[in-house]
Amino acid sequence: MAIIEVDHLLKRYGPHTAVNGVSFAVERGEIFGILGPNGAGKSTTVECIEGLRTPDAGTIRVCGIDPQGGDRELQHVLGAQLQESELPDKLTVGEAMALYSSFYRDPVDWRELISALRLTDKVDTQFRHLSGGQQQRLSIALAVVGNPRVAVLDELTTGLDPQARRDTWDLIETIRDRGVTILLVTHFMEEAERLCDRIALIDSGRLVALDTPAGLIERSGGRQRIRFRPSAPLDGATLTALPEVASVERSGDQVLVTGTGDLLLAVTTALARNQIVPADLRVDQPSLDDAFVALTGRPIHD
Ligand code: ADP
Repeated sequence: MAIIEVDHLLKRYGPHTAVNGVSFAVERGEIFGILGPNGAGKSTTVECIEGLRTPDAGTIRVCGIDPQGGDRELQHVLGAQLQESELPDKLTVGEAMALYSSFYRDPVDWRELISALRLTDKVDTQFRHLSGGQQQRLSIALAVVGNPRVAVLDELTTGLDPQARRDTWDLIETIRDRGVTILLVTHFMEEAERLCDRIALIDSGRLVALDTPAGLIERSGGRQRIRFRPSAPLDGATLTALPEVASVERSGDQVLVTGTGDLLLAVTTALARNQIVPADLRVDQPSLDDAFVALTGRPIHD
């Protein structure tokens, strides 16, 4: 059974339709990404799932519960990340964890949780004195302390430096490995590609595509590119004969090969067979950025 089911969700703000007939289902145990540019309707969608906004049409179920139905069970199955302004500045990490775990019927051991989140030495530190990365980790801890079945994490690495961002990604995987399904809202392609099992690509309130990261890239017809300098003269036909190869171009002493599938293996095997070593070999994989451009006709970041 799907943990979250969204069916033809519609949400308007006055004359503006922010979410326009979006449908998807999140399966148990997956990291499901909602990806799209700023203003696409991502937060509105998850706020409807969290019961914070009332849809104008469509249905939503979270573990079978209608978020609009006032069922208090929702707070036990769905853990939502706080907006930082919701936490009093002077509350310490330990106080916040103890307070939040008291809200739940079956919380996890919060001391163990903050140890996993490397916040143990900050237990007596006030929220306002935490670094951006530490505040993010605390807000993730608060989202999962209630031992929810699904955690909603919205733009969780915005404003973090690259190392803190990678640490946060590792953390999300750890939380998923504990059995929590993750609904992740992001506008970072790299984050979605690295973390998500499946991605709903949203643009201007509509679902553009729903697939695995690899499936989205494949669907967009994104081609891999390989560039190298052959150590000996190379007959282009050696490579164009390969089914994986779409084109072979030369630029000075460089050869540029585009194609699909297991392109790198096919090309390097063919070169080895001809005793040619590819020097300065570079591989450009197509990315979700390429997929977004192919699916919407423009880049995700203007
Ligand atoms: P995203 O999370 O993808 O950036 P949002 O769901 O926040 O997008 O916003 C979708 C659209 O709805 C945007 O055009 C935004 O300006 C508008 N919007 C969001 N919240 C409100 C609101 N409370 N009142 C009016 N318009 C809103």
